[in-house]
Amino acid sequence: MRIIKRDQIIYQFSPENKPVARVKPGETIIVETDDCFKSQLKSEKDLVTEIDFSEVNPATGPVEVEGAKPGDILAVDIQDIELGETGFMVTIPDEGAFGARITHPKTKVVPVSESTFRFNASLSFPVHPMIGVIGVSPEDEAVPCGEIGDHGGNMDAKVITSGATLYFKVRREGGMIALGDVHAGMGDGEAVICGVEITARVRMKLELIRSPAFVPERPVVEYNDLCVTIGHGASLDEAAHVALVDMLELLRYKTGMEEDEISMLISAVGDLKVCQIVDPQKTARVEMPKAVLPDPAAFVFP
Ligand code: CA
Ligand code: ZN
Repeated sequence: MRIIKRDQIIYQFSPENKPVARVKPGETIIVETDDCFKSQLKSEKDLVTEIDFSEVNPATGPVEVEGAKPGDILAVDIQDIELGETGFMVTIPDEGAFGARITHPKTKVVPVSESTFRFNASLSFPVHPMIGVIGVSPEDEAVPCGEIGDHGGNMDAKVITSGATLYFKVRREGGMIALGDVHAGMGDGEAVICGVEITARVRMKLELIRSPAFVPERPVVEYNDLCVTIGHGASLDEAAHVALVDMLELLRYKTGMEEDEISMLISAVGDLKVCQIVDPQKTARVEMPKAVLPDPAAFVFP
């Protein structure tokens, strides 16, 4: 199986990026990802305020999918996320939800095993591996990997995990997918500004859905018995609104129901959740049970 190495990275999603690998539709690959600090933190003595900030939030890639063109959907099956052994968390003065109360930066080393992460001597939790940053090439602008756009990017959505299928609107030839910023765990909101940041090996299958009748503008995720839209905006309200309208449009396409009926359906069983509130662009998601779809057992696309 082809392995894309951890040092083949970008710091922005951009149409100017050159592919580090070219794969056929249907191919499964392994992508090694660095942590969001690019492994510049090694111990609790290393402070995030002292690292080189031009080297944060790397994403591995981009990988070109042969034949992908605008109008297609790139479907990404996240088959497995294998975590490194050490996670890192940080606090930064004036950053995150508690920034005004944080006087000194701090680094926490979080040992991670296959099944748990140890937050401190008395608190351990089951790991929830998730991919913070994943996206395709934007149409014509360059977006830093730490930011979010319609192409994806730093969405920090907990549903982007093993077993999830992601659907991206292809905006440039080849799709050009890249990913990074894996977390061993993260609470919705990512309140302090990070999850348990860690290196990883992600096994994923890249599939192409050619010229489907409906192409969502922003990423859609299928996970367990849920379909999920992810919105972004300058405020949480705005992000929520975008995710809700995206879900409305997805359901209108999938069910053919009237818009007012769908609005009530979302209000009845759709869960609006926070992804993260700590970046300049916030992200929110709507989780809808696939049971509302005509064929709940089938994939959302095609
Ligand atoms: Ca992130
Ligand atoms: Zn992160």
